[in-house]
Amino acid sequence: LVLARKVEKQFGTLKVLKGIDLAISTGEVLCIIGPSGSGKSTFLRCINQLERIDGGALFVSGERVGYHRVGNKLYELDDKAIARQRRSIGMVFQRFNLFPHLTALQNVIEGPVQVLKESKADARAHALSLLERVGLADKRDAYPSQLSGGQQQRVAIARSLAMRPELLLFDEPTSALDPELVAEVLRVMRGLAETGMTMVCVTHELGFARDVGHRVAFMDQGQIVEIGDPRSVLSDPKEVRTRAFISAVR
Ligand code: ATP
Ligand code: MG
Repeated sequence: LVLARKVEKQFGTLKVLKGIDLAISTGEVLCIIGPSGSGKSTFLRCINQLERIDGGALFVSGERVGYHRVGNKLYELDDKAIARQRRSIGMVFQRFNLFPHLTALQNVIEGPVQVLKESKADARAHALSLLERVGLADKRDAYPSQLSGGQQQRVAIARSLAMRPELLLFDEPTSALDPELVAEVLRVMRGLAETGMTMVCVTHELGFARDVGHRVAFMDQGQIVEIGDPRSVLSDPKEVRTRAFISAVR
């Protein structure tokens, strides 16, 4: 579903992604771990076109991200076409960034009605089932300020799902939460994984990565240093840098 070929990204003279090669299949849960500044967020942001890559190529669902092909020539997509590509991808950030003036239910309905042009009734029915799924049916009329961080993050997940994404990107969705709220968000993510959703999760939760991830990738200094089965990467890493990182996090 996602294919990265020698993906490069730099900010000024700082090379942040130095040739990322990666293939993620439909239904796969890939967890990405790695030290601060290694390029994890940047990589997710490139997949979602919040950043443009400077080299290599990215494909999502067989389409080249940011470009279209006519004959054997590549043309940059216009804003409308980029928006269409981005629509198939959901992203959940560290900070929940819900619309503060909308209730939980309204937050979930907003995108489908405004962007997907779903009818209010359909969007509402879908939103209610999603709020149910993240365990917040009883909070549908609450405003973000009336919800805990974990609850807000679960609304944010429901809101992403409402757009019926093919791919969900998570950028440290629990790292801004108080420890007692982490589990409820991870539980929702685990449930999603079990439904076969394709997920890329940047996380410091090594337990989650081990139990839920189909593969774990360790990134350092803009490269994927090691990738494979969670047990082998987390319990028996081959690379010195992976080993050092894991023992530091534990
Ligand atoms: P963390 O674990 O702290 O979230 P990360 O692995 O997600 O780290 P990135 O946020 O991808 O790391 O950042 C990688 C590098 O790129 C860092 O050195 C960062 O300072 C730099 N960087 C990220 N975004 C920008 C930007 N918009 N302009 C300039 N430099 C940036
Ligand atoms: Mg980050």
